[in-house]
Parts: sequence; C-alpha cells; structure tokens
Amino acid sequence: MKYIILKLILLTALQSAVIFTGVANAQASWEIPDPDFKYIAMVRKFPRERYAVIYNPVLCEKIGDACAFFRAHEYSHGFRNDIILRPDEYPQSLEDRGDCWAAKYVDSHEVEAVINLLSDSEAIKDLPIFGDPAHRIEVIKKCAADGGIWLGRKK
Ligand SMILES: [Zn+2]
Repeated sequence: MKYIILKLILLTALQSAVIFTGVANAQASWEIPDPDFKYIAMVRKFPRERYAVIYNPVLCEKIGDACAFFRAHEYSHGFRNDIILRPDEYPQSLEDRGDCWAAKYVDSHEVEAVINLLSDSEAIKDLPIFGDPAHRIEVIKKCAADGGIWLGRKK
C-alpha cells in the first residue's frame, strides 16, 4: 500500500498543480479511518483537486490484504475525475475502470487477496461489496495481467 500512495502522489503531481509538503502529510490527509463507516472505503473530494479515502478499519481488519484493493479502487474514482458517488451507485463502466486501475497498481498479494475474497460467497455475503463477484474477478485478473502483475507468485 505504501507504493500506491507514492504512485498516486506522483500521478497527482503530474496531473495537477497540487503541491505536497511531504509524504507523511499527504498520507495523513488522504486516508481517514472511521470504524462506523458503512462501506469498506469511499473517496471524497476536497477543494483544490485533493482526495481522501475514508475507510472502515474494522471491515479492513476482517478482509485483510484485500482492503488495499478497495481503497485503491476508490482512489481511482478520484484520480480519474469520476463523479463522486457512494460505492454502490457507480455505473458498471466506472466500476470496471476502478477495478482495472486498482488491479494494476496494488501489490500482487493484494490482488490475490481480493480475488480470493470475491470467490468466497460465504465471506462476502454480509460485507458491503457490490457488483457481480465473478465479473469483478474477470476484470481484475485481466487487468492485473495487463499491468504485469503475476498472480500465483510465492510470497
Ligand atoms: Zn467504485
């Protein structure tokens, strides 16, 4: 997840004139834990093209490494200038794009974790995870491969 923060900072620096005072500040202001949040993660837009991802640390604890994927997916809605909606309100095309982006930029073990999670219907039935899991897995696998993420690698 540290890598993704760095990549996102570089991406943002290239895309806009936002000036960051340091990685620590950017991280602190970009990730807001809220144990009562009803979603795993959701992006929020702040003035001057700044984005924060609010995430639920309790749900994240439950889903482990897959949490990084959902946070990255939410960042992508911000960085791709998608309209900001609740996680269950996005049209399919933007969801696919978010999953695709996240699949390319998180670590391979985080991609594997989300695929395993989405494959486990019992584990996800009470979680705020949206969309057709089989479709999401297909998109994630394809985009991970396109991004050079080699699934199945030993840790
Ligand atoms: Zn989304």
